[in-house]
Amino acid sequence: MTADIKSITPVEYPHAEAAAFGQPQEVSPGVFWVRMPLELTGLNHINLWLLRDGPGWSIVDTGMNTDRIHDLWEGVFADFLGGLPVTRVICTHFHPDHMGQAGWLTRRWDCALWATHREWLQGRVAELDQHERMPEWYLKYFRQVGLSEAALAAMAKQSYRYFAAAVTPIPPQVHAVREGQSIRIGEHDWQIIIGRGHSPEHMCLFNPDTKVLISGDQILPKITPHIGIHASEPEANPLQLYLDTLSNFDHLPDDTLVLPAHGLPFYNLHPRLAYLRQHHDQRLAILEDYCAQPTKVLSTLRVMFSRRLNDFEALLGMSEAMSHLHYLMAQGRIIREANDDGVWLYQASSRRADAA
Ligand SMILES: [Zn+2]
Repeated sequence: MTADIKSITPVEYPHAEAAAFGQPQEVSPGVFWVRMPLELTGLNHINLWLLRDGPGWSIVDTGMNTDRIHDLWEGVFADFLGGLPVTRVICTHFHPDHMGQAGWLTRRWDCALWATHREWLQGRVAELDQHERMPEWYLKYFRQVGLSEAALAAMAKQSYRYFAAAVTPIPPQVHAVREGQSIRIGEHDWQIIIGRGHSPEHMCLFNPDTKVLISGDQILPKITPHIGIHASEPEANPLQLYLDTLSNFDHLPDDTLVLPAHGLPFYNLHPRLAYLRQHHDQRLAILEDYCAQPTKVLSTLRVMFSRRLNDFEALLGMSEAMSHLHYLMAQGRIIREANDDGVWLYQASSRRADAA
């Protein structure tokens, strides 16, 4: 490990606080910050962006499908656009707080959704993949993870359609963009930088003229983006993807202004990248150390997270702990075996008696 994580230069905030929900605030010429409410555990807001764009406006990210956000957007349209239309909706990734209103907005303004191909597809698939009853493969996955019979029984009673309810129907058409392209927005070419691990093909947008980066969920100032294993891809290694693609931001200027989806706009991108890398290094070392004996993933939450988690947080935490375990497995530092009940147990390979 390199220098102590506590010695890393903290981020700096040019704005001490956000404006009220739905009140656009200019953060760079022609780039307006629109904060909207969010009701997720630990997160009460999302930052969306409104960009002046030739004869109209481009929106970057849209908010979850709630009446309140719908009404707040209508207020922005009535009071703020100067009579100009929204001509394009850009989404960094498919998560419902980002793509949730894309369907409504593109229909309301008769404009296109711009997104990477995989994020659009993932959104379409997640929306169509809904069931009255929790599917057996989903329960089987959580049985292997080690959920109790009581927790599994409670899960089995729920329906499997969270995503479809959290979004307005995802646009059936997309204007797909890919890594390395630039998008002309107003007077500037914004470069597309891809990050992976939080979602499949997360788009960030960098304006080299003004040195502004719209980072979505890929780089956040205060919390670390959720990197998790999901039932749909139980053998994935998203932490590897996340850390690999963090280097896509290494070449950006030191004085880049970062516009994240959660938290406040900030400076000190490079110290933040260093912090994120060290944070994950630390978690990996803690886990490897903790798994001296064969260990269920649920038991690792007490060392991975400093406070007690509620049920929803525990599911997210478990998925986050597993992404770290899978990274260690890919490096040969952790070995996974199933116990007699079929529950996965993880053990540091250096600690196994037969490895000595
Ligand atoms: Zn996200």
